Parts: sequence; C-alpha cells; structure tokens
Amino acid sequence: MKAMKVIELNNKYAICPKCGSDKVGNGEGGIYNDEYKYIRYCKCGYKITIFENGIELEEKTNISQLDKKVNQEETLRDFIKNSYKDFYEDELTDEYIDRLAEVKLTELVDHLDYLWTK
Ligand SMILES: [Zn+2]
Repeated sequence: MKAMKVIELNNKYAICPKCGSDKVGNGEGGIYNDEYKYIRYCKCGYKITIFENGIELEEKTNISQLDKKVNQEETLRDFIKNSYKDFYEDELTDEYIDRLAEVKLTELVDHLDYLWTK
C-alpha cells in the first residue's frame, strides 16, 4: 500500500470510530499495514480492514472472541478451521490457532474473509 494512502488512513482511523480511543499497543488495539492491506483494531472490538483494491471489511469480532459465535453455526474458531479446510484442504489445530499472535490471527481471519468475498 502506498505511503500516502497509509498516512491518510492513519489520520482517518487514529481515533477509534466506535469508542473514541486513540490508544494502540499494550492490548489497547493497534494498526497494521503491509503492501496489500491496512488494519485498525481496538480493544472495544472495532476492527476495519482496507485492502489495496478498495474493499473494506468492518468486523464485530476480534481475537478475544475466538470462541463466540460469528454466525448461526460457527464460532470464530470454527470459521477459521472450516474456511482453511475448504480453501487449502488442510487442517489447523486448536493449538496452532491459540499460539498465533494477535496480528497473525487477524491477518489469517482477514485473508479467509477475503477469499470468501472473491
Ligand atoms: Zn474502540
């Protein structure tokens, strides 16, 4: 993602649109970006991902909600495991999921969400 776009998004999302917090780090929330996407998440549960191609995903779930339901049938953990199996024909174990750092898990969920939007 271009630096100018990241600066623009940093300005836009410096303050969490849901709870007004401007804190990142120490479990308060964070900002992550790489060449494909920009993520702002907050301890209140707010999370938005903006992809390079303009697609935006706003989610109600975050990592602390791994075992809460994200739809009628699945918890976030089920969603990760089932989606991964569907797309990669491979299984992720609970141990693997539990060991992932917050940003890595966020990336994984975003990636799977993104595959579903295609
Ligand atoms: Zn917030």
